[in-house]
Amino acid sequence: MTSLEDLRKINARCIHCRACQYAYSGEPDKEGETEEYTGMLQGCPAGLYYGWEGYFNSGKQWIARAFLNGEIEPSQEMLEVAEACTTCGMCETQCPNYIDTVHVTEELRAAIIEAGVEPLSKHKKFGEMVSDKELRNPYKEARSDRTKWAQEKHAEQIDKDVKIAYFVGCTGAYRQQHVADHTASILKKLGVDFTILSDEVCCGSPILRTGQKAVFHDVMEKNLELFNDFDLLLFSCAGCYKTIRNDYPRLSGKPLKFEARHTVEYVYDLLREGKLKIDKEYSKKITWHDPCHSVRHVGIAIEKEILKGSENWLLDSRKAEKAKMEHYEIPREVLKAIPGVELHEMYRIKGDSFCCGAGGGVKAQFPDMALSTSKERLKEAASTGADILMTSCPFCITNFNDGIKALQKEEEESGVDNSGVGSKLKVVELLEVLDELLE
Ligand code: SF4
Ligand code: SF4
Repeated sequence: MTSLEDLRKINARCIHCRACQYAYSGEPDKEGETEEYTGMLQGCPAGLYYGWEGYFNSGKQWIARAFLNGEIEPSQEMLEVAEACTTCGMCETQCPNYIDTVHVTEELRAAIIEAGVEPLSKHKKFGEMVSDKELRNPYKEARSDRTKWAQEKHAEQIDKDVKIAYFVGCTGAYRQQHVADHTASILKKLGVDFTILSDEVCCGSPILRTGQKAVFHDVMEKNLELFNDFDLLLFSCAGCYKTIRNDYPRLSGKPLKFEARHTVEYVYDLLREGKLKIDKEYSKKITWHDPCHSVRHVGIAIEKEILKGSENWLLDSRKAEKAKMEHYEIPREVLKAIPGVELHEMYRIKGDSFCCGAGGGVKAQFPDMALSTSKERLKEAASTGADILMTSCPFCITNFNDGIKALQKEEEESGVDNSGVGSKLKVVELLEVLDELLE
């Protein structure tokens, strides 16, 4: 496991230029379709909500440096500032010095907790529930009920002796079972011989993000023991996918023995290889929201994997940028393959996408910030003229639906003019649509 101390040299590269506060810092003259969304837009949900330097990544990097140099004492206040960040990684995309901003923030959180500061109340509860061997999930649900969602329609897939597994995740297993059901259905329609393991436990994402590394290590080891003999692990949850694909090898010190793909990526692979064609129409005006975990974080990881140990930075940085951009195109290529889809892009997209506001433990601990971020993104989505905001992440879907409800309430009860965003826009999961379209 790494520590904040291991990231000292990376953190030292921060020159406090504050480029990380803005989306599109590389394209200051970029024009948007509307007056509101154009030019150099702020892109950090935490900084935008709180407005203080410490909440932006630039401030957090300097807090981390002061902490490393013994210039400030760890405290509850410091942890609250460090935790009020969705770990969306927008800042990481912008940083000209390739600073692993999110790793630094997560290690800062862990270091403050290791120094004796109590985790924040809601985060502590996640930790306790995931540690509990009868639960092993942050929803306080019985571990024995983990595959209950599959009993009726997918019982034959449970604990099957095959080489491909679907990692369902706690949200799919206990809260958004329809997403797990659609995913299993898609995989069957595609002829994938897969299993769902009843012994699967939380991937550890909510624990890792909030600085509770000891508990994380426990679940990571358990999952690696369970899944290491598989050839391919498929996901429907952006958070589980990012955690297992990017964080497990980094924090276990060992490369994954299996390939990890999100189901949307798996569908893309088949489309690209000419093995799949979608014939049914979906004639709707949509806009696409890139989930930070499965799009930006994986794109950044692909870039860094190519650059790691590079002996020709000039050549490899072009190759790395190209590979990252190709990753960002995957959901767009899938949407293009659906007849009838009219895609209207938002202003902040791909690596510069504005977060939904739910990640990094923010939704539970800082609900007002999560809601405000969601509403900001929904307004941006509506500004494209789309009727549907499509994405593929259980947390984005939940937080956007909460944002829609809040906007509707403001419009109906307080007469706030939100240009009808709350009543016009519908939030839809791409996996649900793919299941409906595939035969
Ligand atoms: S993290 Fe990078 S972009 Fe942000 S202030 Fe530091 S050097 Fe500048
Ligand atoms: S990860 Fe996202 S919320 Fe956190 S500091 Fe960076 S841009 Fe802001």
